[in-house]
Amino acid sequence: MSGELSGLQIFKYLPAAKKQECANCKKCGCPTCMAFSLKLAKNQIEIEKCPYAPEELRSIILDAVKVKQHEYTIGSKNIVKTGGETVLFRHDKTFVNKTVFAISLNSGDSDFDEKLQRVGNFQIERIGDVFKVDAVYLKDTGNFIQAAKKVDAEGFALILESDDAESLEKLKEVNPVIITKDPEAFKENLIVISSENPDNLERLSSQRIKDGYKKIILNPKMKNISETVEMLTYIRRMAIQEKFEPFTFPVMVKIPQSDNIAKTTSEAALLICRYANIIVFEDFDEAMFASLCTLRQNIYTNPQKPLQVESKVYDINEPDKNSPVVLTTNFALTYFAVANELESLPFGSYLVVTPSDGMSVLTAWSADKFTAEIAAKTVKKYNLEEKVNKKSIIIPGLLSHMKEELENALEGWEIVVGTIEACEIPEFIQSLGYGKNS
Ligand code: SF4
Repeated sequence: MSGELSGLQIFKYLPAAKKQECANCKKCGCPTCMAFSLKLAKNQIEIEKCPYAPEELRSIILDAVKVKQHEYTIGSKNIVKTGGETVLFRHDKTFVNKTVFAISLNSGDSDFDEKLQRVGNFQIERIGDVFKVDAVYLKDTGNFIQAAKKVDAEGFALILESDDAESLEKLKEVNPVIITKDPEAFKENLIVISSENPDNLERLSSQRIKDGYKKIILNPKMKNISETVEMLTYIRRMAIQEKFEPFTFPVMVKIPQSDNIAKTTSEAALLICRYANIIVFEDFDEAMFASLCTLRQNIYTNPQKPLQVESKVYDINEPDKNSPVVLTTNFALTYFAVANELESLPFGSYLVVTPSDGMSVLTAWSADKFTAEIAAKTVKKYNLEEKVNKKSIIIPGLLSHMKEELENALEGWEIVVGTIEACEIPEFIQSLGYGKNS
């Protein structure tokens, strides 16, 4: 169990690397110290098998296997993951599991079904991602089991708040997060620890670990948003940098009800960036969620892997032989900006998307990820000349300097320099005479 240490890193601590007499003694069952270190790096052998492993290596290995933040799954249908973060800043690597958005509902409300339906109706697609509410925080105010089962059937993960152990017991099967005064019966389940005091939260967490609780969510209840962000930053630092066990758990924060939706939105935005794993909202507002989901998508996109779409020819609005051909790169934002404009045309079109490692047009060109050769290869690969009567390709205005180069590479094709802004595409294409005879 070596965590992230490589075989070579382990080897330098062993007798063979230090040229000690006991080197390659085979007492561990391996033919050499190197073989032992390679096995140890792959978690295929215990360090205890080598009687000569120095104390320093033992403690390094012990530290390397400590978890920075536990990762849990919630829900029985659409499984939601939370926690599992390994860095403080997304540019260090990437954030792993996006902040879970939960809406608070009372199980006994007479308009419970309508509220649940409204939350379920919220669905927006952006850059290939579907934005939805992830979970429902269900407070037991009557009719609890029935309400929880409805929420589960709708595909939401559940955070259950109740002091009725019998009902909670019956709902274990939906794999919920549980908030209850006496969690003794739920040691194997995901339970929440709350406190208004950082020291007390740490003490409670340590006690729960000692008592054998397996899965914990931390819920600091601070006085205001600035104290909350300060506390969440402290918890995340202690988890990532110190691997301080009582704080190696996902953190849940509730945003209180407010008439000021702008305030709620800005508070939630802060919490997405610093460092809430789960946010519970008392208010539900579609516009607010659209904004927050967009922010969350940006924060949780891997900075080393730009959002990209498949490189191919996309048929927009059932194109035919008289349709225009438009070319761009496979950066998701560029693709959706262009595709949305083409969709608004009253006739079909072909959108050729080059394999450009998810880079935008100019970035791809400057990194040699969009070249005349790449463009020509893509056009030929999808037999575009057989799809249209007019062999003409509209390229992004930002690539006007490539017109000649592209015409040389794409023999027989006319290269038309298009617009710089995507929003100008429909008017530009219509000005070229497309759609007049359709
Ligand atoms: Fe090397 Fe230790 Fe294995 Fe002996 S027991 S071969 S010293 S790793």
